[in-house]
This record gives sequence, C-alpha cells and structure tokens, in this order.
Amino acid sequence: MKTNPLNFDVIIIGGGLAGLSSAIHLSKSKLDVLVIEKNSYPKHKVCGEYISNEVLPYFEFLGIDVFKLGAKKINRFELSTPKNKVVKANLPLGGFGISRFCLDFELSKKATDNQAIISQDTVEDIQFLNDRFSVKTKLTTYTSTIVIGAYGKRANLDVKINRNFIKNKSPFLAVKTHLIGNFPEDLVALHNFDGGYCGLSKVENNSINVCYITDIEAFKKHRDIEDFQQKVVFKNSALKAVFKNSKSVFKTPLTISQISFETKNPIENHIIMCGDTAGMIHPLCGNGMSIAIRSAQIASLLIIQFFNGEIKDRQALEKQYLREWNTEFKSRLKTGHIVANLFSKNRIAEVLISITKLIPSILPQIIKRTHGKIMTVK
Ligand SMILES: Cc1cc2nc3c(=O)[nH]c(=O)nc-3n(C[C@H](O)[C@H](O)[C@H](O)COP(=O)(O)OP(=O)(O)OC[C@H]3O[C@@H](n4cnc5c(N)ncnc54)[C@H](O)[C@@H]3O)c2cc1C
Repeated sequence: MKTNPLNFDVIIIGGGLAGLSSAIHLSKSKLDVLVIEKNSYPKHKVCGEYISNEVLPYFEFLGIDVFKLGAKKINRFELSTPKNKVVKANLPLGGFGISRFCLDFELSKKATDNQAIISQDTVEDIQFLNDRFSVKTKLTTYTSTIVIGAYGKRANLDVKINRNFIKNKSPFLAVKTHLIGNFPEDLVALHNFDGGYCGLSKVENNSINVCYITDIEAFKKHRDIEDFQQKVVFKNSALKAVFKNSKSVFKTPLTISQISFETKNPIENHIIMCGDTAGMIHPLCGNGMSIAIRSAQIASLLIIQFFNGEIKDRQALEKQYLREWNTEFKSRLKTGHIVANLFSKNRIAEVLISITKLIPSILPQIIKRTHGKIMTVK
C-alpha cells in the first residue's frame, strides 16, 4: 500500500511511444510508475506510421501483438524525385504499418493493466533537489526518485528547463492525413517534391497514411494546404495519382510545425531523456519510432538495475545511459541528417537516384545505416 499517493519510484513525462514503453517495462518489474500525458487516448498524431521490424521482439516482451491489431506487413520501398525518377528496393529488415491512434492506445491500456498510473495532466516544471525530483503539473505536484523525459520533440518544458537546442527556430512543418484508396499493403513510398517529401503506407484499418514534411518558407508562399498540394506536391505524379484516386478520412489534415533536428542532451538536470526528447532522426529515414522504443528499453533496463542495487548510484546510472545512448543512436542520427540534407537539394537527389539505379545495392546499405538491429530482450 502506498503511503504517499503523490510519490513514485519513476515519473514519466509524456505518454507517447517512449514513455508508454518504459511505463510497461518498469511496471512489469513492480516499480511504482506514474505517466503524465497532456492528451487523452486514442488520438491521431502527425507521424508516417511505418515502424521498423526491429521492435517486434521487444513488443512481444511488453505484451503487444501489432499483427493482432491489424498492422500491415511492409517489405518494399520506393523513392521518387520531384522529376519523377523512381528507384525501388526491398527493405533489409522490413516493417509494419499501424496508426498512432491504435498503437499508443494499446500501449496505454497495457501500462494501466500492469498497474502503472496514467494521469491526464500537463507538466509545467521539474526541480531536482536533495537527490529527489519534484514535478509540478497544472493540477498538482508529484515527487519521485527518477524522472524520464519522454515529451516529444519540442515542448514548453524545454524552455523551462533551459535546454540549449530550444533557442533555435526550426524551419519544418508537417501535414498528415488518412486516405481511402488503392495502395499496395506491403509498400512504403517516399515521394519527393520541391522543398519536401511525402511518405505513404497503409495502416491497420486499410487507410493510406499520407504524411509530408516541408520547408515552412516554401509553404508560406501558398494560400492554404490545398493550394500548396495542387501547386507543389502534385508535381510529383505518384502523389497526384494517389490523392486523385482516394477519399480523405479526416475532415481536415493534421499539421505540426517547429520540428527540430537539433542535437540534444540525453541527460539534462538528471532527467533521463527518451525518444524524440533525447534526439530526433529526420523522418526521411523513417525510424524515429523504433529509436523511441529502443531508448525506452535502454533506460528501463538501467533504471531497474539502479533500483535493485546493481547500479550503485545516480551518477553511474546517468553515465551508463549516456554511453549506451551514444553507442546506439549517435551515428544513426548523423547519417539520417546527412541523407536528409542531400535529398533536400533537388539536383543532388536526382544524381543520387541515378547512381542508386546503376548500383542498386547502395539503397539497402543507406537504409541499414539509419536503422538498428532487431532488438533483443534480456
Ligand atoms: C512528419 C513526421 C513523420 C514521421 N514518420 C515516421 C515514420 O514513418 N516512422 C517512424 O519510425 N517515425 C516517424 N516519425 C518520428 C516519430 O513520430 C517520433 O520519433 C516518435 O513519435 C517519437 O516518440 P516519442 O514517444 O519520443 O514522442 P511522442 O510520440 O511525440 O510523445 C510525446 C508525448 O508527450 C506528451 N507531452 C508533451 N509535452 C507534455 C507535457 N508538458 N506534459 C505532459 N505530456 C506532454 C505529448 O502529448 C505526447 O503524447 C515521424 C515524425 C514526423 C514529424
């Protein structure tokens, strides 16, 4: 029986993929876990919704079977340039398509089944004093031994805790919708257009996820999303064809801005950062979700060792997390940024596609360098 209902072993800020995966893992080990999530479940999120198969063994450990939920198996990849040059490849590991509406909801139910508490509330500040955290929300103040920051790519909280990257504005905007129409179930496509690119793949309910990211300056020149799509996005004939032959499921598309790919610190003021809060890979490399889930596994395993005494103190915990995070993700994020940068320059993208057409083994190699290995479960 808890003596203080406001005190926890671990408080997780943000109930997205990283936060919920950690919550399930830690509560499986009987740690007393609180997740604070500002939104309710289920909820649509701006995301390409293609996940690399590398997470499957860990999902099995967490008790999540994505194929029972209807996830589509995806093993083919297609890339096109604004001038409609196309290159195709088989995905080395493959992946699956599932909506965040469905996946985050299932993870939240599993976390609650495991006795983790999920509170719908917004974290406004985090203080670390005398080796304990105090987490102030809109509604109350909680305390804990450990705090995991899993609140996504950019939040007011980053300003509050004075993170360096937040001082730089980000020029990217993203738009997502679901369409009903014809699209192969086993394909993830990335179609480039002037100033951005659009990912397409199917999700569990047979909708086509359509998610594009673009430079905000290019977007601003147009009246609205419809105008931008007609004048810019549809210059790519593959995109024009999909939109023309499909019906929208959403009344209006979802949009987000201020998408930041700046380098961040995976530990900040003793908070263990997971998922996008620790660092974000460019979505062109379609792999942020598996990074979020893998970082949650790394953090959870170390936090369990900290509570059972195998890791002797907080300093050793933080040092080990930083070491493992850098080993696992640093070079993947860097390669992702280089690839995205090259593809943002139309002429270079055309040349790259021509080279990959001549030497087809290059594309799977690039994909491998931005993806991890199949996760193991200890
Ligand atoms: C356009 C685009 C397309 C993408 N496509 C893909 C793709 O196809 N495949 C892929 O693998 N990755 C993709 N990604 C990346 C992927 O979406 C992210 O890497 C992933 O969502 C990270 O999960 P997370 O748990 O770190 O953060 P999130 O899923 O963003 O979760 C953070 C949570 O924290 C909550 N929160 C924020 N602030 C607070 C607060 N103060 N208090 C309480 N709660 C708070 C939010 O409501 C949110 O639910 C894409 C990203 C973008 C932008």
